[in-house]
Amino acid sequence: MSDINIDNWWLPFTNVRAFQDNPRIFSRAEGCFLYKQDGSEVLDITAGLWCCNVGHGRREIADAVHKQLMTLDYAPPFQFGTPPGFEFAQRITQHTPADINRVFFTNSGSEAVDTALKIAHLYQHARDKGGKQRFISREQGYHGVNVGGTSMQGLPTNRHGFPVLDRVDFLPGMLDISRNAFSRGSPAHGTEEMAAAFENIVAMRGADSICAVIIEPVSGAGGMVPPPQGYLKKVRELCDKHDILLIFDEVITGFGRTGSAFAATEFDVVPDIMTTAKGINGGTVPMGAVLIKDEIQQAIFDAAPNTLPEFFHGNTYAGAPVAAAAGLAAMDIYEQEGLLTCGSGEKGKYWEDALHSLADLPQVIDIRNYGLLGAVSFDPMELPAKSLGPKIHQRCFDNGLLCRAVGDNMVMSPPLSISHQEIDLFISRFRQSVTEVLGQPSSPAVA
Ligand code: PMP
Repeated sequence: MSDINIDNWWLPFTNVRAFQDNPRIFSRAEGCFLYKQDGSEVLDITAGLWCCNVGHGRREIADAVHKQLMTLDYAPPFQFGTPPGFEFAQRITQHTPADINRVFFTNSGSEAVDTALKIAHLYQHARDKGGKQRFISREQGYHGVNVGGTSMQGLPTNRHGFPVLDRVDFLPGMLDISRNAFSRGSPAHGTEEMAAAFENIVAMRGADSICAVIIEPVSGAGGMVPPPQGYLKKVRELCDKHDILLIFDEVITGFGRTGSAFAATEFDVVPDIMTTAKGINGGTVPMGAVLIKDEIQQAIFDAAPNTLPEFFHGNTYAGAPVAAAAGLAAMDIYEQEGLLTCGSGEKGKYWEDALHSLADLPQVIDIRNYGLLGAVSFDPMELPAKSLGPKIHQRCFDNGLLCRAVGDNMVMSPPLSISHQEIDLFISRFRQSVTEVLGQPSSPAVA
């Protein structure tokens, strides 16, 4: 039990009463491990919250942050700039698709999403298409917690009881275990259903009323679901056909998660706007960004009176020098260690095989993976749905393994710096934990 007073911090997305009975507190981290207060280690197979992509406790980032704090801790970003902000923006655009060269910094993924929605709206006004005010999102989608992003949420619990925009339609979610179980990478089925649903929405609302589509290239908080084959190209094609902007929410998929720097490159689709955050500086200093096609920024500039800011929007800490310095140091690590693409190379293959070796565990109904992302879905059988996931999650934690439970899906996103031995350790701790909860596999493991 902790000697820390836990009364005052209201934790986000937390059952506080349960937490008070069972406080789980980390006090140290290094590499792929978090450490509890009693000193025991926990293998972090979620990279914090999909963000500590270069591993914990990187001295290069710590040194860069310290140096920046002592050189220029802060300067206002409204009407002024700083060298690390400009340098980091340029470094990011070396990894984005060719036409996406404008970076608008925020402090989080949620702010990046709401900023992207505003930019999309402004762009439609700038080209005299102000009637385009509706959005298309997707069931099971997660787009942060600000009002715009909450409105785009396809997870009903995250919308319920909150003020939301009602001008949103939802494509069907991508998870179809009945057809795509145990797929590796992109599953075969689902693109045609999405295209039919897309066309139905356009027929119902009229293309002249639709501003943008926002989707995660790989659904993250909805249960880690990769897009079916051809899905994202089809979305791009339909957006072009109906003159609708395409926003990729790459808050999770950015910075190497899928095996390319961004999922846009991985799936060979150029969206109009991208949002990103999480891995942007390795989970060290709050930061997010919107990445924008040149022509969108240009149209907004062209339409604005030249005596006023083109965009009445921004945050006090936007592009803060310390966050940008952390980003530059993280980018050095990403590039020097080949982490942005390791998910599509040997490490990605090792991860895929390791994950699918769990198929013999009891009640496993699906395993899926993409890059260094993975999910194992369980059938709760006689238990109420969504109660098995938390049980397995707790047992994993007790056994020194941090996964995420999304309903009855266990979701994984290890630091990209994870070693093969640490992947093996994950598999053995996961196997042990599931076996303790559900019993031994009935047949031998198949790799
Ligand atoms: N979009 C996506 C796809 C996300 O996964 C998240 C965070 N899980 C967000 C937006 C919000 O990011 P943040 O928590 O940094 O506000």
